[in-house]
Amino acid sequence: MKYRQQLKGLQPYHPGKSADDVKQAYGLQQVIKLASNENPYGCSGKVSQAISHELLNLSNYPDSSASELRKRVAEHLGVFQDQLIFGKGTDEIIHLLCRAYLEPGVNTVMSDFTFLQYKRNAIIEGAHVREIPHLNGRHDIQKMIDAIDDKTNIVWVCNPNNPTGEYVRQDELINLLESIDKSILVVCDEAYFEYVDADDFPDTISLLSDYPNLIVTRTFSKGYGLAALRIGYAVCDPEVVSTLNIVRETFNTSHLSQIGVMAALDDQSFIKECHLKNRQELEQYYRFCWRFGLSYYPSQANFIFIDMNMESNKVAQHLLSKGFIIRPGSTFGKPTGLRITIGTPKQNDSIIALLSHFVKVEANSQNSHMLSQ
Ligand SMILES: *Cc1c(COP(=O)(O)O)cnc(C)c1O
Repeated sequence: MKYRQQLKGLQPYHPGKSADDVKQAYGLQQVIKLASNENPYGCSGKVSQAISHELLNLSNYPDSSASELRKRVAEHLGVFQDQLIFGKGTDEIIHLLCRAYLEPGVNTVMSDFTFLQYKRNAIIEGAHVREIPHLNGRHDIQKMIDAIDDKTNIVWVCNPNNPTGEYVRQDELINLLESIDKSILVVCDEAYFEYVDADDFPDTISLLSDYPNLIVTRTFSKGYGLAALRIGYAVCDPEVVSTLNIVRETFNTSHLSQIGVMAALDDQSFIKECHLKNRQELEQYYRFCWRFGLSYYPSQANFIFIDMNMESNKVAQHLLSKGFIIRPGSTFGKPTGLRITIGTPKQNDSIIALLSHFVKVEANSQNSHMLSQ
């Protein structure tokens, strides 16, 4: 069959192993997945209640413009309703952005160590991808500015950055926005916004009024614990919303999902609680790294990227056999790295115990190897 040139060399995206796959493969009763940065505490209890009230109301198409949800999110953020567009997760928003703003002959600028969907979608649209080497897990904003030209249509700022957890500061983002033409879209993907702590993290919502080319994306999949409902959104200039609406499927978010995320939005105390627990648990991993002299990126998100100083596929494999799924760095071209989603205290204790044991055994086998030489 004849298909699009751009698809040559691309494979379907691998979401990583599911808990059921691993249970089967290793004959395990219980498998904990800490590989996709989902919320280990689930979601607000209000969500299932709200959804259950709608279970007899499934015969009509959903509200295409998600009016009620739009109203609530607009109030929550203090923006106008026409600045919002909802998608089947931020993933769909990224897809829509590439569909609407990229084509052969134009380029798009991003870090070489960031969320993989930007590149993938850009390639599918036939755009040229300019990947700028990261600086210690951080976007090199100055080099990104240098790489932008009159053929650039989108610049991607993953903030905090997946998979490193590092972030771009407010002053760096303003420098980027001030340095480029206002016809170039700057996408700030804030999928982990609910976990951010840093004082100098950009206040992107306030920046929107000064920069019509700025677009902020957020999701209900991570901090809100609703990855299954598939709702993410973008906040931007109404003109960008109109352009994206041309390529958006009419009924892209479901009725139950809209109902569910509204209930979650109402329960901000759940978000606060998860934020605090995540901070505390992150510290556990820092202490583990200090103890074994391992380097890591300080994280503003609900995951940590650790350099294990050894081939991390075998570490991941070992944890898998014990019922823990984590993401080996090879996924991101970093064969000694591991990205671990911060779990519950009990889950983290188990992972840290397994990792400590593994690191000690490895160190011993290295020593005896040296002695025997
Ligand atoms: C998880 C993630 C997303 C996608 O989230 P969905 O809303 O579930 O599609 C987008 N960007 C980054 C950086 C992510 O880590």
